[in-house]
Amino acid sequence: MAEGRTPSPGCARQVLYADGTVRGDVPKRVRVGVNGYGTIGKRVADAVVKQPDMELVGVAKTRPSFEAEQAVAKGYRLFVTGGGDPGAFETAGLPVAGTLDALLAGIDVIVDASPDKVGRENAARYRSAGVRAVFQGGEKSDVAEASFNAMANYRTGEGKRSLRVVSCNTTGLARAAAVIDRAWGVERWEATLVRRAADPSETNRGPINGILPTFQMPSHHGPDVRTVLQDLPITTLAVVVPTTLMHVHVNRVRLRHPPARAADVVARLRASPRFRIFRSWERADGTPQVMEFGRDRGLGHNDVMENVLWEAGIGLDGPELHFFQGVHQESVVVPENIDAIRSMFGLAADAEESIRMTDAALGLPPPDTRPTSMK
Ligand code: NAD
Repeated sequence: MAEGRTPSPGCARQVLYADGTVRGDVPKRVRVGVNGYGTIGKRVADAVVKQPDMELVGVAKTRPSFEAEQAVAKGYRLFVTGGGDPGAFETAGLPVAGTLDALLAGIDVIVDASPDKVGRENAARYRSAGVRAVFQGGEKSDVAEASFNAMANYRTGEGKRSLRVVSCNTTGLARAAAVIDRAWGVERWEATLVRRAADPSETNRGPINGILPTFQMPSHHGPDVRTVLQDLPITTLAVVVPTTLMHVHVNRVRLRHPPARAADVVARLRASPRFRIFRSWERADGTPQVMEFGRDRGLGHNDVMENVLWEAGIGLDGPELHFFQGVHQESVVVPENIDAIRSMFGLAADAEESIRMTDAALGLPPPDTRPTSMK
């Protein structure tokens, strides 16, 4: 299909945007495909299915696996991608609806969740199919017209044909910076990232018994945050540690107009979407308890898509704000992929509405506006 084809046949609807403009040609449902059905892709597919204004047309996989089998069990149409052999799926008893080209012919937007750097190879194919594309943070920023984070730069996506959702660490930093910078102004932000070595399903990565400093200084995360918050004076260092559970950021932020108390910071973050701030009595001392909370809460894949903070881990010393935050790498970008699609197609009035819709559909709790018990 040619570049610029009309999205989703069928009924259009009218959207009144926050700036007062109205568009009458907004599709009721955007047709979405997912290319690359691994850690991120399977989560995004499940998230798309839950959205009232999106339809999952299918997912593309290279090889049969238990994940492909589960996709079929969920009723997702399977397409073969990345030079995969349709015969291998047939032998495994997994029905295939076609190749990636067939998927591209029936959708408005593809979410590319293929391995790092493979998205770039796929980009030309999406363009020639006339399909919009959302890429992931493993790609360099120039893979797409703009980098995206819903709380930092939602409106950047409007009308774009390609976006890149920034990586898990960058998403966590950008969310926190969007709230803190708007509230009190950031003079300087220094963060040390303690990075998980591998995802739980990965058996080919380490270290298993060491702490590896990242000798790129600053680490790529600070510059990456500036792809969505251009003026943020942030610098980052990173170490990789032998865990699979989460990343933890150690943040030191000098504020321009600091609040009176750390409790004000807690209250502001708690009143923002996509933050989960543990109270001391909850006894979530670190990432193992946070993931146990995720398992008990039972969102799909037992995910924790929010930035995780601890009340006891937020301190204010004059203008210096110190805080720890945890990022569940496997899921934190999932809601952002949904918002990226809404932003591109103009499906919501503004960031707030999109975030509200996404989070309600995913079962994420609304912002906690109860007063904090912290002094
Ligand atoms: P993954 O390895 O878990 O999944 C990638 C999937 O793509 C696999 O199923 C693989 O078989 C498939 N694949 C391989 N070659 C392909 C091709 N040519 N075309 C389509 N699919 C192909 O990887 P992931 O962790 O889901 O990462 C996907 C992207 O998301 C990367 O850019 C990564 O940097 C980014 N990301 C990952 C995380 C994380 O912590 N896992 C967090 C945020 C962003």
